[in-house]
Amino acid sequence: MHCPSCHAQDTKVIETRILQNGMAVRRRRRCDDCDKRFTTYENFTQQLPALVKADGRRENFNREKIIKGLTKACQKRPVSRDQIHALIDGLERHLAELSLKEIRSDLIGNYVMEELYKLDPVSYVRFASFYWTFNDVQDFVSNLEKSPLQPLINNESLNSKGSQLEI
Ligand SMILES: [Zn+2]
Repeated sequence: MHCPSCHAQDTKVIETRILQNGMAVRRRRRCDDCDKRFTTYENFTQQLPALVKADGRRENFNREKIIKGLTKACQKRPVSRDQIHALIDGLERHLAELSLKEIRSDLIGNYVMEELYKLDPVSYVRFASFYWTFNDVQDFVSNLEKSPLQPLINNESLNSKGSQLEI
């Protein structure tokens, strides 16, 4: 771990504490060069699947990107920031449980759309038109032109029914 202050490459661990019944570790460190003291945490990371676009491109799951799209769609609508984050939390939980290496991005899109529809149909329509108009026109069109792809998985919440919008 580099020093956050002087960027020296060697820093010493001066204290280690096990937290959350061994699920996390906190370390106090000290820089030999400038004596800066700082703290680092180690946690388990959730392994989320890569998204597979209609043209075969892979993309990492990007929570911020989805939140940005949702926030824009829900502007001046009765959908709170907490509800948006809860929606994505639910999606991440789903994905973590499925423990797939990759998943078609339109399945993610459908899940988000379905959940958003439950919260506010107006935001749902905005979200759909936003992605259709600005983001993934090419993916959307190529999805329509292709014969229906078999979904990677059959899951009640993550199915390929309805629109083929991608995130
Ligand atoms: Zn330093």
